[in-house]
Amino acid sequence: MIASSLCEDENYKYIVIGGGSAACLNAKRLSEHGKVLLLERGMMMPEDNVNARVPALLLDNWQPPYTRDILMKKNPPLDRVNLIVADVLGGGGEINGMISHTGSEGYWKSWDQTKWNYERDIVPAYDRLKQRLSLMKAPYIPEIASWFVSSGANVSFVNDDLNDLLSNPTEGFGDIYLAIKPSPSFGFERDNTLYAYLNGSKKVDVSLSSHVTRINFNRRNVAVSVEYIKDGKLFIAKAKKGIILSAGAIGSAEILMRSGVGPCPSLEALGIECVSDLPVGRGLRDHHTLQLSYFTPCITPQSPGLAFSPGTQVAGFLKSSPSRPYPDIQYTFIPTFGPGIPLFGLSIFLVDSDVRGNVTLASSDPLKPSIVQYDYSGTAYDNQRLAQAVEKAEAFMSTPPFSACMGVRQQPPPSQDLPSWIPSNSASGYHPTGTNLIGHVVDQDLKVKGVHNLYVLDSSIIPLSNCNTQIPTLIAAERGIDLIIASTL
Ligand SMILES: Cc1cc2nc3c(=O)[nH]c(=O)nc-3n(C[C@H](O)[C@H](O)[C@H](O)COP(=O)(O)OP(=O)(O)OC[C@H]3O[C@@H](n4cnc5c(N)ncnc54)[C@H](O)[C@@H]3O)c2cc1C
Repeated sequence: MIASSLCEDENYKYIVIGGGSAACLNAKRLSEHGKVLLLERGMMMPEDNVNARVPALLLDNWQPPYTRDILMKKNPPLDRVNLIVADVLGGGGEINGMISHTGSEGYWKSWDQTKWNYERDIVPAYDRLKQRLSLMKAPYIPEIASWFVSSGANVSFVNDDLNDLLSNPTEGFGDIYLAIKPSPSFGFERDNTLYAYLNGSKKVDVSLSSHVTRINFNRRNVAVSVEYIKDGKLFIAKAKKGIILSAGAIGSAEILMRSGVGPCPSLEALGIECVSDLPVGRGLRDHHTLQLSYFTPCITPQSPGLAFSPGTQVAGFLKSSPSRPYPDIQYTFIPTFGPGIPLFGLSIFLVDSDVRGNVTLASSDPLKPSIVQYDYSGTAYDNQRLAQAVEKAEAFMSTPPFSACMGVRQQPPPSQDLPSWIPSNSASGYHPTGTNLIGHVVDQDLKVKGVHNLYVLDSSIIPLSNCNTQIPTLIAAERGIDLIIASTL
């Protein structure tokens, strides 16, 4: 039984829900205009958890209590697909792969929102982000990875600055950027918005292990307070100017629906009073990922420099057809794959799938997980593009200089029929977005439609980017927080 208790402090101008990648940036920027309460469900990463700091050790933290398994509605034949999201202060930025692509000019222009102009709003927002968050190329790049770039350029070109928004169309092969910084203890270590923005901020009160259950509205549909459970007690905190939902693509949709903002018929069926009828949870998108591996005669030396990157240092972006406005295929190269056997890995991301999923509440119980439905087996067009991407990669990897390292495919074995292997082996790229899409659930100023003083600013508002999602989310946060501040001053 949860005991009820009232948080008497009414001095907060803003409450930020969630303590993840966008939330840490949002809270810090808002705190320049008043006192902020940040409510994060997870704990803080223990200081002695080196896996969080040393880039190459990241996989050890991809499990509870630092991540949460998302309950997927069974999607035959893919009942094994398991989407995970961050569940720790710092959010994805504290556990993720640190890969830092921006997305293409064409992607940002596809937002089609007048207050989100590419040259005027997006490029300067990225410049501001880079002034705080350390983004740099891997300090050590093995020779085999450089050869991957050179051979990739045989079908495209070398792009020396894959991460420069203005070098668009962000196509080609090159060294990637990582969210890492020099470290006195580890040589180089993870950077994120918790350290780059929030750390040391005196005007942000952080409440950990605080599971937000709902937002309360007054009779005029003004969001006035937030309910959360901490140490088995129910607390209510009030915000004078604004409540900013930044609990990620799954968490923010769940909280909105529990508060009565979402598809009215399905909320009312659970006994939740509907406040605003909106398509919350409906626009879920993700990247479809194939993981391939190949035997190689090239042995990558066990350099200590390999610890400075998350297993990858280079990538490539291609369009599956010249008519596409921006690249829809992303290759991420992994020079050493698996212990003991000389193997390299190749991750292929379909970064513009046709699939749309949804997040729905399973019950009105705020502690019961929601149900996420998403079909990673893809459409026929998705799988055709992935099959072509595999064939294209094998063709360019068989040209010099990479051909010297090219061996037989280990996974899937060459005898495997690719068109039948792909749909049952496409997995989540851990990049959910779009459940509170801008223009649909929130307006251009990020205000939730049909209510007041409630905003969403995280990966749930962005259309699916054509690259890993953290930096696009943070560019959106750097731009969006200005709009929220302007609306609430
Ligand atoms: C394993 C993994 C690897 C990834 N690798 C990369 C990568 O290499 N590069 C890249 O660009 N992207 C990567 N991503 C994706 C990237 O991390 C996300 O796109 C990004 O973190 C999204 O930011 P966000 O602020 O929307 O949500 P998050 O960073 O996920 O933050 C949401 C926060 O809200 C909290 N929360 C949720 N519900 C509640 C609630 N009810 N009450 C209180 N708090 C709540 C969560 O605990 C979490 O801390 C990866 C993601 C995962 C899971």
